[in-house]
Amino acid sequence: MRLLADLHTHTVASGHAYSTLTENALAAAASGLELIAITDHGPTVPQGSHPWYFWNLKAAPSVLNGVRVLKGCEANLSEDDQTENGIDLPDEVLERLDFVAVGFHPTTGFDQRDRARNTAALLRAMANPLVDMVTHPGNDHEFPLDLDAIVAAAVKHQVILELNDHSFAPDSSRSGSAKREREFASAAREAGAPVAIGSDAHYALHVGRFGDAIAAAEEIGFAEGDLVNRDAASVLAFLLAKRERSLIDAGGTWSWDIAR
Ligand SMILES: [Zn+2]
Ligand SMILES: [Zn+2]
Repeated sequence: MRLLADLHTHTVASGHAYSTLTENALAAAASGLELIAITDHGPTVPQGSHPWYFWNLKAAPSVLNGVRVLKGCEANLSEDDQTENGIDLPDEVLERLDFVAVGFHPTTGFDQRDRARNTAALLRAMANPLVDMVTHPGNDHEFPLDLDAIVAAAVKHQVILELNDHSFAPDSSRSGSAKREREFASAAREAGAPVAIGSDAHYALHVGRFGDAIAAAEEIGFAEGDLVNRDAASVLAFLLAKRERSLIDAGGTWSWDIAR
C-alpha cells in the first residue's frame, strides 16, 4: 500500500516540533507525496499557536514544489462552557482553514480519564460541520472514549477517524494505544466511517512516514482505495464534498528555487 497524502504534520508553530512549513512541504515533495496538511496544535496545548497564526495561514503557499499544502489545525476540545463551539479555536477561524482536525492532548482540561465526559465533548465537536478529522482516537489510557458512539458519529457526520502512525512508535507518549487505535480503525471500516493514516510528524523527515500504521491497516483488511489519504485527489474530493474551502488556493502556486 502506498499513500500519497499526509493529513497530520506539525511545524515549529506547535512549540514542540522542529521544522517549518516549507521544510515539511519540501520533504513531502522529495518523498513523492502529493499533499500534506499542516496541522499545528491549537492554543490550549502549551506553546500551541495563537488564533492569529491560523487566521493568517493564507500567507503560506497553497502548492509548493508540486505539493498541495492544506492549511489546517489540530485543535483541542474545550472544557464545558469555556468556548462557544467546544473547541479551542472559534468557528470564524475554523471556517477559513482547508482542514480541521481535533484531538485530546495532555494538560488541556481532560486529564481525568472520564470516558463519558470525553465522549460527550468529542461528539459535540464532530457534529460541527467544520470538523474533518479526529486524531489518534485510540489513546485509551489517557483519554478513553466510547468507541461505538464515536464510530457512529464519524459515519453520520463524515468525520475521518485517524489511524495514527506515531501511536505505534515505542518512544511515543501514546505507545500503549496501538491496540485500541487498531480497534477504532477496524470498527470504522466495518461501519463505513472514513479513515486516514497520519504520520503526526514533528520533524520534516517524518512527513509521510506510515509504515507501522500501514501494516496495521493491511492486517485489518484495508486496501489503498479505502483510505481518504490515498492521494491528493481523494483528499480534496472528500473535503470539498463536505463544504467549500474558500481559501484553498489563496497562497498561490510556488517553487522553492526563489528565482521568480
Ligand atoms: Zn504535538
Ligand atoms: Zn495530537
